[in-house]
Amino acid sequence: MKVVNKMEFYKTQSWKRKRAKILRRDGYECLNCKRYGKNRTATTVHHCHPLKERPDLRLASWNLISLCAECHGKMHDRETDKLTKLGEFWREKVTPHPSSTVE
Ligand SMILES: [Zn+2]
Ligand SMILES: [Zn+2]
Repeated sequence: MKVVNKMEFYKTQSWKRKRAKILRRDGYECLNCKRYGKNRTATTVHHCHPLKERPDLRLASWNLISLCAECHGKMHDRETDKLTKLGEFWREKVTPHPSSTVE
């Protein structure tokens, strides 16, 4: 697998299409806010398994969740660019059962 350049990837048509599809799938609602019964419009799509670690999952629908900007900010550690505790929670949550199919 060739290294995915993060900035280049986010400019690709396939990402833009996928991103739009995920937002639509999630009803344009922030899935993290939803856990707390809040209704917030999602504006970003987050990779639960980070692009850097699992470039092979960059377009896997199950790996992507819609989030509002505030929640998305809480998924990543600003300094290290690593997942925060909340980010790890979501990574754990979305990881499919080995027998389920990956789109
Ligand atoms: Zn949110
Ligand atoms: Zn993210």
